[in-house]
Amino acid sequence: MDIDPSQLPLDGIKRGGGWSVIKGWGRALLSRRGKRLWRTLNHKSACLSCAWGTGGQNGGFRDELGEPLQRCIKSVEAIQSELQPAVPRHVFDRLSLGELQNFDSASCDRLGRLDRPLIHRAGQDFYEPIQWDEVYKRLADAFLASPPERVASYSSGRSSNEAAYLLQLLMRARGSNNLADCSDLCHAPSSVGLTRVFGSGTSNVSLESLRQADGVVLVGSNAPANHPRLMNELIRLRDRGGTVVVINPVVEGGLLKFGSPAFPIRSLLLGSEIASLFLQPIPGSDTAVFLGFQKAWLESGAIAWEFVKSHSDGWEALQEQLMSTSWESITQCCGLSREELEHTAARLASCRAVVFAWAMGITHHSNGTTNVQAIANSAVLSGNVGRPGTGTMPIRGHSNVQGFGSMGVSIRLREPMRLALEALLKRPLSRTPGYHARDLIEAADQGQVDALLCLGGNLYGANPDSNQARRALGQIDTVAYLATKPNQGHFHGLGARQTLVLPVFNRFETPHRTTVESGNNWVRLNEPGTTHLKRANLTSEVGFLAELADRIFGDAPIHWRRLQDPIYVRELIARTVPGYEEMAGIDATKREFEVSGRVFQTPCFATSTGRAQLAPTLLPDLRLPDPDHFGGLADGERGLVLSLITARSHGQHNTVVYQSGDRYRGMPHRKTLLINSEDLQRQGLEAHERVTVQGDAGRLEQIELIPGSIRPGCGLMFFPEANALMLGVSDPACGTPAFKRVPVLVRAPAWPTGV
Ligand code: SF4
Repeated sequence: MDIDPSQLPLDGIKRGGGWSVIKGWGRALLSRRGKRLWRTLNHKSACLSCAWGTGGQNGGFRDELGEPLQRCIKSVEAIQSELQPAVPRHVFDRLSLGELQNFDSASCDRLGRLDRPLIHRAGQDFYEPIQWDEVYKRLADAFLASPPERVASYSSGRSSNEAAYLLQLLMRARGSNNLADCSDLCHAPSSVGLTRVFGSGTSNVSLESLRQADGVVLVGSNAPANHPRLMNELIRLRDRGGTVVVINPVVEGGLLKFGSPAFPIRSLLLGSEIASLFLQPIPGSDTAVFLGFQKAWLESGAIAWEFVKSHSDGWEALQEQLMSTSWESITQCCGLSREELEHTAARLASCRAVVFAWAMGITHHSNGTTNVQAIANSAVLSGNVGRPGTGTMPIRGHSNVQGFGSMGVSIRLREPMRLALEALLKRPLSRTPGYHARDLIEAADQGQVDALLCLGGNLYGANPDSNQARRALGQIDTVAYLATKPNQGHFHGLGARQTLVLPVFNRFETPHRTTVESGNNWVRLNEPGTTHLKRANLTSEVGFLAELADRIFGDAPIHWRRLQDPIYVRELIARTVPGYEEMAGIDATKREFEVSGRVFQTPCFATSTGRAQLAPTLLPDLRLPDPDHFGGLADGERGLVLSLITARSHGQHNTVVYQSGDRYRGMPHRKTLLINSEDLQRQGLEAHERVTVQGDAGRLEQIELIPGSIRPGCGLMFFPEANALMLGVSDPACGTPAFKRVPVLVRAPAWPTGV
């Protein structure tokens, strides 16, 4: 597809940012809750929304380098939602579960804040209030009644490092490694792929380092909607003459032009150019795209051989793969021409320092880990890692999702942390492999899980195959959800005997300090706060987990009640979490810090040899099935098989939908399918016609076709609604489901006779 952004067919797409953002801010700040919103925005705590991690001790609007005006409208949406009043009493008193199950994600969120613990008992058709003491008793009993391998936790990255640390400590003390986490459903391929190559699974680029780059490759990311402040860095990079290569099957308007409020004079009004080159490959073919760049560098003599030979192993096998893989197989796989790949590779080779950044367009594939390795290989072959201005940068979603991994909420516990935890708990940890999020659902579906504690998140909504998720959760005896607001999971993901919905303080309300870690490895300190909810019966997650652990274990092998003190938790974190040594002094110094050992300023990596580990990356087989796979098209029925991408809309954060439509993509509501106009014409389909979309797990009816700037042969629908279509086909390296490149059949009825 076209690589000069000015030549792209822009089927009505809009640029990102701009005055609409200012209007959004204006509306929010002038609203009834505007004053409180403003106070909250200025509270010294990290933004609740994405992992770019604005806020903290520098104040609500500054990043870690002290740059002002670094707060975006997503953050406003998230705070506004938290500032809602409590869920009106009549909702849980009068509405049946059947009625609550009809609420979509946005309606659930708009119910308001949870303000009292609730229980659903088997056989009842409603939630009812319950006392905290009874909650602890029921949960402690549930966690003690079953063998360790039958208890599990799930978590989302909205909570604090301290709560995350306690959660894993509780689970591991219980002898269970079943620490499923939302990162299993998004960036686990980044963690696994980067660890294979560099020995460390996070971004190895700091914000400071990013500002020294003159090239950025942005793959499979819709940063203008999901990480808006990253756009400021891309604008700056273009301003200093740098190159931004965007790779995405969908032309996202904000990746062409973005008007940033941080630069009111030079950017906001007219918008700033973002993409220097735009590639539109076939979804899921990223390994082929990067092999294409590598082959082009090999053939043009642009490989940084001195660097590669000095700082990596395994390059010989990769070189062999590049020589033996034909251009034809690469271009057929990715749908880009050799000229496009060579041209882009040459442009990158002319850059002094390149950062490779990506989001879930790379990871949400059955070969997501391979995609990440292909990117990391490219960084090494081009000498773009291990010095300022270079590196590999997964762009993380939830604000503390990376901190959860650091705290050991993972089925892949790093050896140094294992040893430190064993010393702390004075006994060996279980070696039984734990369940990641997909395995947890599979195990539950087979009746192998008895108790599940969810620290935030929406395990039901975030999983593929919604029917299976509902059924699986329904097999678990006791399910407990700690949450600030209701979500669909609370109404569909009901346990077999009891389900508890437990209200907690959010980050800016928690009555004690907490910390979080950004996607750039920056640890932020959040000051205590208060809640606006009157007479609310909330708990802090740290207090809850320490109390529950005390009820389960008593005071062995550690003094669990003492862990109600977050300062003590931070002491333990400093002692046992690699890279977090500076945490020990943070309460006294209030000095935020970069996790040590993550950002590579020199080409000495975290592998056992200190050298990057390169390996060939296999081209994926991306053939789509024909309509017969779905039962075929009836006589006269119109339709085609598409490679479906599922994505968040603008105005959505993970499974939480704040706004139904997506004005950037021209998709006015949730029941839409973005499709290329050529596909419409070729199949005799009409724009805005209602069709059925059928996948391997189910079908969705009355879906409106929206013509848009998406590669022919592809479609885009919104997550999580489209989860109902797909089976949980996962990346075998880490279990992350393929939410993108999902084969679906679009069906439209035959035209009435005579039309
Ligand atoms: S870019 Fe991310 S961290 Fe920064 S304000 Fe926006 S949502 Fe929050």
